[in-house]
Amino acid sequence: TPLDKIRNFSIIAHIDHGKSTLADRLIQRTGGLTEREMSAQVLDNMDIEKERGITIKAQTVRLDWKGHVLNLMDTPGHVDFAYEVSRSLAACEGALLVVDAAQGVEAQTLANVYQSIEHDHEIVPVINKIDLPAAEPEKVRKEIEDVIGLDASNAILASAKSGIGIDEILDAIVERIPAPKGDASQPLKAMLVDSWYDPYLGVVILVRVMAGVLRKGAEIAFMAGGTKHLVDRVGCFRPKIEQLTELGPGEIGFITAQIKEVAQTAVGDTITDAKKPAAEALPGFKLVQPVVFCGLFPVDAADFDKLRESISRLRLNDASFTFEMESSAALGFGFRCGFLGLLHLEIIQERLTREYDLDLITTAPSVVYKIQLAHDRGEIELHNPADMPDPSKIASIEEPWIEAVIYCPDEYLGSILKLCQDRRGVQKNLTYVGGRAQVTYDLPLNEVVFDFYDRLKSISRGYASFDYHQIGYREGDLVKMSIMVNAEPVDALSMIVHRGTAESRGRGMCERLKDLIPRHLFKIPIQAAIGGKVIARETIAAMRKDVTAKCYGGDASRKKKLLEKQKEGKKRMREYGSVSIPQEAFIAALRMG
Ligand code: GDP
Ligand code: MG
Repeated sequence: TPLDKIRNFSIIAHIDHGKSTLADRLIQRTGGLTEREMSAQVLDNMDIEKERGITIKAQTVRLDWKGHVLNLMDTPGHVDFAYEVSRSLAACEGALLVVDAAQGVEAQTLANVYQSIEHDHEIVPVINKIDLPAAEPEKVRKEIEDVIGLDASNAILASAKSGIGIDEILDAIVERIPAPKGDASQPLKAMLVDSWYDPYLGVVILVRVMAGVLRKGAEIAFMAGGTKHLVDRVGCFRPKIEQLTELGPGEIGFITAQIKEVAQTAVGDTITDAKKPAAEALPGFKLVQPVVFCGLFPVDAADFDKLRESISRLRLNDASFTFEMESSAALGFGFRCGFLGLLHLEIIQERLTREYDLDLITTAPSVVYKIQLAHDRGEIELHNPADMPDPSKIASIEEPWIEAVIYCPDEYLGSILKLCQDRRGVQKNLTYVGGRAQVTYDLPLNEVVFDFYDRLKSISRGYASFDYHQIGYREGDLVKMSIMVNAEPVDALSMIVHRGTAESRGRGMCERLKDLIPRHLFKIPIQAAIGGKVIARETIAAMRKDVTAKCYGGDASRKKKLLEKQKEGKKRMREYGSVSIPQEAFIAALRMG
């Protein structure tokens, strides 16, 4: 395709503003989909993506419109996948900015649009959902101008749901978004935008050709990965697969090259010609590193092999999560896993439970701490609170910090500021735009990974939105808090906390565990301790009678049922010495009050 006939664009939007619906509508209008195929959202593939309404893998689709080829690049919709987003944006020259006509501009709209501006995108504002009775398109138009600083006088009024404004959007893509640049005679340079495992094709790689031509049958080299491969398929998605013989400069498409694992394909890597390599790689390559770690253990120790197999299989398709074997005194054998963020953790945990039918115990999520050892013994990275060295061997501990942008209606500001303050936040900025506040805080990641987002949503009745990025490490007064149940330390519940908040956290943990652990035939003390010092304590009273005693020995079938129910409950418990702790307790105990 000649360069001047190509347009590459992405759609940026806050969650639920209609990105997927619009994408499907554009595909339908340009002939890629029938009405019937429209019924299921096409670009969101995985069940979990559909349920949570987020995109995890970047999808792309090629559309034909009035003699032009339009490549629509879908971007991941969550802060955990920020690097993937940045590469998808780098593959495009422009973006549709979709804003809900009833909701207006939200935090994620802002974060995404600024990224898009950084990539020099031409931005076409689309005010969506104008069919809603609550739609206020003129107010939103002004908001886009005031808050983002974009000219919205030519914003397109649309309804992705009822099909209003769709042709106008397609025309605007052709007219307003610039064509890509690139020289076909130069050595090949293609950006690896994304990759995933397909059971029939093997690893499929999504690419954007920047210079040169990527041909079927060519030998290619990954400049950062250092490996070489033969290209056996070249093609694009419409959204059905169409095979091609080559992709020229400016084009977006996929290749396969008999690669078995996505771990061999790093997002952002430069693909070049093995025989005639480019002199230098494309800018912006970065290896993504997990930031949140936790242990995953089977509830039933006999499931360990099944867990190992399932984790390995998931990893085939997701190189951004890591795992290594871990053993815990109380939980037996399991895996220490690393994730890009809490959502990523939840997705993997949910897939293991749902797709692989595993009952899992998830230990307290932890961030990566940097510990300077005493007597100049160097620095270590701590991924697991259980591995914390003795305090006498520690010179200092550093923890990761984030900068968070929260956007909320005025009336919730007070409680949001308090929440941030309680989580050791440092306020950086506070501005008002049209009855809404935008507040910027520096926060320790450790204070955010637990339930910050849930709390924020609940105190703002869902109106606050939140976006963050990491800003590096800072020293903190951090200590390891251990939890003891019936005098046995439960390592899965130990966590690293700030000394100033340790006591209230410890008290909260003990109180919640008291409710979560069922009564036993004996009294159970629950304690939180720092070093040898107990900082909080609760006691679970002993159960006086056998559970079946309530049945007065009369009704045999009822008695049997009760015993069965008890057995069922046992399966989902772990034994700590003589105490059974239900699976749910491990995560529930970490929720802060
Ligand atoms: P995404 O999270 O940005 O991908 O949003 P979706 O496309 O999944 O849309 C979120 C919700 O808004 C869904 O229930 C859609 O049916 C609905 N929606 C999308 N576009 C429109 C629209 O133009 N009008 C109305 N009334 N609802 C819409
Ligand atoms: Mg979506």
